[in-house]
Amino acid sequence: MNKRDVTIVGGGIAGLTAAFFAARENLTTTIIDNQGVSGGVLINVDSIQNFPGFPDGISGYELGPMIAGQASASGAEFVFGSVMDIHQCEDGWELSGDFGSVVSTNLVVATGSQPARLGVSNEEQLYGHGISYCATCDGDFFRDEDVLIAGGGDAALDEALVLAEIVNSLTIVHHGDSPTGSKATLARVQALPNVGMLTNSEIVGLNGDDVLIGASVRDEHGSIQDLDCTGLFVYVGSNPQTNLLQDWCELDALGHVAVDDYMSTGVVGLYAVGDIRQRSSGLLLGSAADGMAAARAIVAKN
Ligand SMILES: Cc1cc2nc3c(=O)[nH]c(=O)nc-3n(C[C@H](O)[C@H](O)[C@H](O)COP(=O)(O)OP(=O)(O)OC[C@H]3O[C@@H](n4cnc5c(N)ncnc54)[C@H](O)[C@@H]3O)c2cc1C
Repeated sequence: MNKRDVTIVGGGIAGLTAAFFAARENLTTTIIDNQGVSGGVLINVDSIQNFPGFPDGISGYELGPMIAGQASASGAEFVFGSVMDIHQCEDGWELSGDFGSVVSTNLVVATGSQPARLGVSNEEQLYGHGISYCATCDGDFFRDEDVLIAGGGDAALDEALVLAEIVNSLTIVHHGDSPTGSKATLARVQALPNVGMLTNSEIVGLNGDDVLIGASVRDEHGSIQDLDCTGLFVYVGSNPQTNLLQDWCELDALGHVAVDDYMSTGVVGLYAVGDIRQRSSGLLLGSAADGMAAARAIVAKN
């Protein structure tokens, strides 16, 4: 593969938007992603209600391919593979992985985040046996059953809307006074007849050896109640996937990368966009804007 002007690691909305904006300015652009389908987290979002231009909402599995199609039509090249190492070299950056290697003047890292774990014992053991981090992916396995959601941010509320249509009952367990996600989405969730909410409460134990049969929930007074449930969907934050960057730029205690307004890390030719950067909006539109900002900064240098 010839040397590229721009290579992007990660085909979520941040990376795809960077690819679109770079390629349409005739920069040779490659985007490398380790999932079969472009779109990253987006692909699993059932209904997006906060993306301008879609007053009735749109699903991620429709929006993702639209943006990927725009990037591809602009000339971006798509490579399926995992980037395992990056190195600064005379010509810019060298990336290597199961796809081979690529040399690129500029490198945009858009690797997104992974769901944080609850941190209670049995969680890993029961993953796939009652515990899930994606209602859109796994919700159907819990048809007419009683399930819990841990969390109260946007992801938890969005996924509550999906799950409530499938399950018998849904209880949202949130550690604060009130969920922190969008007020509009919260109102829709609260209007659903089969959704309950336990605030100032946290899940402190999981019951079941081979499959989940219940969870222990502690309230603000320290009282613990056992709730029967066969499913638990966890949305308690996310961990940025920044291990590729750890030798090249400073990461904060949570693993996020500091960038300037142009998404530059301060290291020549190295940009970080989307969920992995400090002060990320954590939203699709903000992640897309990051990709655009990085690409425009790279275009401006040429
Ligand atoms: C359940 C849920 C619902 C949400 N709903 C909404 C919503 O309705 N509205 C909204 O605005 N936001 C929503 N969000 C947030 C939004 O989805 C994220 O902010 C956004 O998708 C982040 O995009 P990204 O491009 O930074 O990362 P991602 O979408 O995570 O993409 C990163 C990509 O990089 C790939 N990758 C990682 N490491 C490598 C590597 N080493 N080599 C190659 N590829 C790699 C990953 O596999 C992935 O495909 C939701 C999030 C969740 C979890």
